Amino acid sequence: MEKENLNRDIIQIGNEKFVPMLNEEKIKTRIKELGEQISNDYMNKLPIFIGVLNGSFMFMSDLLKHVNIHCEIDFIKLSSYGDAKISSGNVRTLKELNADISERHIIIVEDIVDTGLSINYITEILNYHKPASVKYVSLLVKPASLKFDIKIDYIGFEIPNQFVIGYGLDYAQKYRNLTSIYALSE
Ligand code: 5GP
Repeated sequence: MEKENLNRDIIQIGNEKFVPMLNEEKIKTRIKELGEQISNDYMNKLPIFIGVLNGSFMFMSDLLKHVNIHCEIDFIKLSSYGDAKISSGNVRTLKELNADISERHIIIVEDIVDTGLSINYITEILNYHKPASVKYVSLLVKPASLKFDIKIDYIGFEIPNQFVIGYGLDYAQKYRNLTSIYALSE
């Protein structure tokens, strides 16, 4: 059987074509900057990084390699998209937090903020537990899609309102393991 190399120039899925948007080198460089900035801002604060599964797993891992202060980690899992390319508008918690976050400095780690619905939902859950502070880091933000009044404190890249895959982001659960980010070509 012929081997399929996933990391290539153009990715064809059925009759949809995905083209490169951000390569591995660009992503790495920006994540290093974010890690250093967060390390400076949270010196002596022992923050808890909370990754939003599944999409943030790769970003969370690479980001934490550049965080050079003491910190803890936890994960929360939400479901809003299912296998669709457009948000259903409903969010459910599929895995709750394990950490006790009361009086703690929290940094939510997202792969992408699209409408802001997920971030809005997480904020409500977190505020109930009375953390000392909550900030957000997202590798990607689609400013034109935002429907909620939310502030993302640390942004990797602002991107146009296009569906993207790779580097943790899926297409019907696949393609998360691509090392670069690809956008659906119009
Ligand atoms: P929001 O709640 O901000 O509308 O969407 C956040 C979640 O939707 C992300 O964590 C991600 O799982 C999913 N999502 C939003 N935009 C995209 C996209 O362009 N590609 C993929 N694969 N997932 C997306």
